[in-house]
Amino acid sequence: EEPSGTHTKRKVVAVVGGGLVGSLNACYFAQRGFNVEVFETREDIRQAKIVRGRSINLALSHRGRQALKHVGMEEKIVSQGIPMHARMIHSLSGKQSPIPYGKKGQYILSVDRANLNKELLTEAEKYPNAKLNFDHKLQDWSPETGLMTFARSDGSTEHIEADLIVGCDGAFSAIRKQFLRRSRFNYSQTYIPHGYMELTMPPIDGEFAMKPNYLHIWPRNTFMMIALPNLDKTFTCTLFMPFEEFEKITMTSSASHFYYFRLPAQAMVSVKCSPYHIGDKCVLMGDAAHAVVPFYGQGMNAGFEDCIVFDEILNQFDEDLSAALPEYTRVRVPDDHAIADLAMYNYIEMRAHVNSKWFLFRKHVDNILHLLMPKTIIPLYTMVTFTRTRYHKAVERWHWQDKVKHKCFLSLSLSLSVLQIRPSVLGSVMWLHR
Ligand code: FAD
Repeated sequence: EEPSGTHTKRKVVAVVGGGLVGSLNACYFAQRGFNVEVFETREDIRQAKIVRGRSINLALSHRGRQALKHVGMEEKIVSQGIPMHARMIHSLSGKQSPIPYGKKGQYILSVDRANLNKELLTEAEKYPNAKLNFDHKLQDWSPETGLMTFARSDGSTEHIEADLIVGCDGAFSAIRKQFLRRSRFNYSQTYIPHGYMELTMPPIDGEFAMKPNYLHIWPRNTFMMIALPNLDKTFTCTLFMPFEEFEKITMTSSASHFYYFRLPAQAMVSVKCSPYHIGDKCVLMGDAAHAVVPFYGQGMNAGFEDCIVFDEILNQFDEDLSAALPEYTRVRVPDDHAIADLAMYNYIEMRAHVNSKWFLFRKHVDNILHLLMPKTIIPLYTMVTFTRTRYHKAVERWHWQDKVKHKCFLSLSLSLSVLQIRPSVLGSVMWLHR
């Protein structure tokens, strides 16, 4: 494909971090004709025997799929995923109740993180103008010159210069450290009291131990477990629990027979910052810019969407980096902050409210209203998961819809009172519209 724009051609773009967002971003920049160099701390995971990652599998949804589509990867990744049409809520009594994610035919996909990362690295490598450098850990860099220092595992260091540095080095970004030294850089990080631990649920008689096309949830107020299916018919279960509870656990023999425990409990951090760029030299994307708690299943999806948004802005400004970088901050910060807040909101909702009849009732009402007025009432989850509505617009609309619903219920209760319906009925209607 003939790259568009002329004045930034052959510029060197250094993508620091070859995780999910870095490897996808490498494809985006290579597709535009930049000379791309990816620097990744780890060895090539395609050759490594043990791959350490944040989680075994992830939920891929519309935003992530759109981003993959742009570099011709959607079909391949989707064909290797398992559709999950609904949450399956497991109650204390053992009852299972499905709650669909959206309309018929709408689903999210369980994908294998390591496989997705490998596929993206292989795709990036297909571009003759992209090079992957493993065993390169960024130590320091200069915002003035773009000079970066990398540590190698043999103890040596390398100095490399780039025109644009794209920080995709995750929640504990080394690139971001330079931002922290600068004036007027806003930064906050919050650890939640919960940790997570992953367990593998093996197949039973060669088959999935539970129904495969669901995201299984065991909401138990202070703690919660979820399970996503894998192609090898196992489930990866993630147990979320306060750290102090993890410390109390001693596994009973029956439990340890059933699950294979993986790794000690891991911490979860939410990081918000602004701006995302320094001059025309550096930009942060993915978790480096916005680590979110994993309760909306949007961290990677948001990071993938960062790549499309930046690409769209490069088109808009004919690849003029001095204009594109500030615009990217302007456009993207409110959206990434909105998804960080929503993820934190869901941290509470998933554990507690999914249990309550009131929550289930509201979900049903939302879905019915959406069916009756598909253009007026769109459930928040649908906007976030199945559309590319800007995250902060989705939140604004959600608040507006709540007001509309409130007003509808209010007029309904007033009409009922005019018709002298029994006060107890009126009372419940008033309660329901909260
Ligand atoms: P990372 O995946 O962290 O990759 C960063 C890369 O940079 C790594 O390869 C690392 O080795 C490299 N690196 C780090 N430091 C340096 C350095 N100094 N020099 C060079 N390289 C460096 N998101 C979803 O969309 N859906 C989900 O269902 C979902 N579930 C999740 C479940 C859990 C338990 C967790 C913790 C997260 C989940 N996420 C999910 C979020 C998702 O994992 C992240 O948003 C995603 O991994 C971000 O990708 P990234 O490339 O920005 O960062």
